[in-house]
Amino acid sequence: MTLPDFVGAKKALEVIEKIPTVAKQKAHIDFLNDQLKFAQEEIAKLKEERAELLQESQRLSRLLHELEAKEQFVDGGVCLFRKSNGKINDTPLCHKCKLPMSHVDPQYWMCSGCEAIFAHTEIQAAKRKIQQS
Ligand SMILES: [Zn+2]
Repeated sequence: MTLPDFVGAKKALEVIEKIPTVAKQKAHIDFLNDQLKFAQEEIAKLKEERAELLQESQRLSRLLHELEAKEQFVDGGVCLFRKSNGKINDTPLCHKCKLPMSHVDPQYWMCSGCEAIFAHTEIQAAKRKIQQS
């Protein structure tokens, strides 16, 4: 008597085991849903971080612009002088408006913006001050 050949039955069982059951499919869908939820949370976090970084970048950009603007002037006390490429222009500028002053008469200078008046001696002193520094 020969033993029955179970090779065919074993192969059939292997094929059946590979067929996903409803439970396996549901577990896979649950896993994918968890992954999706995780990815959505990460995206929300990254969007928040991006908005914060953008805001910080804009703040630093404004700060840099302000610093660059400040570096363009040399403070002579009563007035400012523009500095470009390392050279100081000796035209006095109004502190308040940063506009050039005109030598309206031998004794006075006047701001072309706010029309503030400064004594010629004060402007001369400011020019000496910046030339010495
Ligand atoms: Zn002015």
